[in-house]
Amino acid sequence: MPITLDQLNAAPLAEAALLLDGLYEHSPWIAEQALKQRPFSSLAALKHAMVRVLHEAGVEPQLALIRAHPELAGKAMVSQSLTAESTHEQTKAGLTHCTPEEFAHIQRLNADYNAKHGFPFILAVRGPRGTGLSKAEIIATFERRLHNPVDFERAECLRNIHRIAEIRLNDKFGFEPTLGNAVWDWHENLARHTDPGYAELGQLTVTYLTDAHRACAAQLQQQMLALGFDEAHIDAVGNVVGVYHAGPQPNAVRPELVEGLARASTSSARTDGSDSPATAKTLLTGSHYDTVRNGGKYDGRLGIFVPMACVQQLNQAGRRLPFAIEVVGFAEEEGQRYKATFLGSGALTGHFNPDWLDQQDADGITLRAAMQHAGLPATLDAIAALQRDPSKYLGFVEVHIEQGPVLNELDLPLGVVTSINASVRYLGEVIGMASHAGTTPMDRRRDAACAVAELALYAEQRAAADGDSVATVGMLQVPNGSINVVPGACQFSLDIRAPSDAQRDALAQDIVTQLQAICDRRGVRHTLEETMRAAAAPSAPAWQARWEAAVAALGVPLHRLPSGAGHDAMKLHELMPQAMLFVRGQNSGISHNPLESTTSDDMDLCVRAFAHLLEQLAAEHPN
Ligand SMILES: [Zn+2]
Repeated sequence: MPITLDQLNAAPLAEAALLLDGLYEHSPWIAEQALKQRPFSSLAALKHAMVRVLHEAGVEPQLALIRAHPELAGKAMVSQSLTAESTHEQTKAGLTHCTPEEFAHIQRLNADYNAKHGFPFILAVRGPRGTGLSKAEIIATFERRLHNPVDFERAECLRNIHRIAEIRLNDKFGFEPTLGNAVWDWHENLARHTDPGYAELGQLTVTYLTDAHRACAAQLQQQMLALGFDEAHIDAVGNVVGVYHAGPQPNAVRPELVEGLARASTSSARTDGSDSPATAKTLLTGSHYDTVRNGGKYDGRLGIFVPMACVQQLNQAGRRLPFAIEVVGFAEEEGQRYKATFLGSGALTGHFNPDWLDQQDADGITLRAAMQHAGLPATLDAIAALQRDPSKYLGFVEVHIEQGPVLNELDLPLGVVTSINASVRYLGEVIGMASHAGTTPMDRRRDAACAVAELALYAEQRAAADGDSVATVGMLQVPNGSINVVPGACQFSLDIRAPSDAQRDALAQDIVTQLQAICDRRGVRHTLEETMRAAAAPSAPAWQARWEAAVAALGVPLHRLPSGAGHDAMKLHELMPQAMLFVRGQNSGISHNPLESTTSDDMDLCVRAFAHLLEQLAAEHPN
């Protein structure tokens, strides 16, 4: 019989500890200490309490826990002395059925990993979907992680241990993240479409208006209709736009619906499904479905699928909200095929640059020709007509994978975005004097590369002083450099971001002033060209508060963070209030990379958070 949360909360401590036995390998103390914080409002709250206990225990108990784990496909497996939980997991991953070669390979990896790190390699072999990683995935992960720094691996092992505990806990409670699993599977299904040349390599690349891109659009449109959207169409720039109409809402929101839309009864507020009151406003949401080259499956797409899952739940429950829900799969955000970043969301804000139509891709195909080939009208009038009238909208919300390490390090599934950072970019060059590396004394040099190196170190230290600013010299090149020549010129890039325009400007000003000072002192000169500037898009306080309430209602500790990356929400910010919700990324939050991932458990929480936001809005906007 599955355990219930009420049962766990009510049981005497010893009995409750027994209910949680086996979550952490040979380490019942973690659950026991966490249980002192009862009652728990949700499984997510219990999971995080255990994370905190281990975090606060310090390094030695953490290492002891890691070392309490058996090696993957190791001697304990062969001699059948694993715990029941470990046996189950290793069997499910097929590790008990290795070929002699695979077995030998894993033994070598085990030995190398142990020798380098001083503890065994830990991997949650049931994986992010809970259904099990393949042997090939396990071995590839093992080989990759072997080379990580030791302190990083210690933290990564602990994260995997918490993931193992999460799955074991789900099993004990008979909990399945069904909404998250569905959303996970939709991502897999959409990732079948990839541009030519990448399909063969098993890589995901979907750039603007390619065959794969148009197949994605068609599939999203069909899926929206199948899930219960009233309308779904592909607009003049290739955005997929689905609308779930508003309906009359005779009853006030019932509190039980706030927990999860799935439990809504079918008796409430059933309408004929095509009746949209003229007065009802629309909630706008969505994200992009294009990808970078060899990108991840979740960047952008999560922000389309999560609200689609909510509409599915509403439709299945026969419910209408007092506002319409418009979900947009933006056709273009990444600027890969054409230098027209945010083309999709920019069309909704009236920021389509007419010059873009004549831009050519790498094969010389103009944007206009690509649009015509895709059956789009490719006229400025048709594109201008996509501009949204903000008076018809409540606001814009966007869900996105974090694309950074913050939530992963904190072991938190969700984070509320405070602001999309302001940014400014420069390209520059320092010009010194090339001279002989052997004959020029150190006090006579005008070394351009050393000047840029000094600038990079200053930018690093000055941004760090802000705490939440970032500055990066990502390119640093000595044109025609030579091993025996003091660099006479050095080209560099500078990327500066901060949560507010003022903070960014102060940081940029200091770095530019310092560049001048460095050049003066070293007797060199420089050029600096600003190539991009984007204003910060702070979250609208009322909308940020709705995300915060949604996260809190799930029992997930609240964490606020700025977005270091740009998103479609910063375009919509120009028209209406907006706020974003981030979902934790696995593998240190790596993105624009095939290792980009999140778990179906985190996706499940995200769908519930979105549903909660919808219920809050419904409660605020009764008809
Ligand atoms: Zn994105």
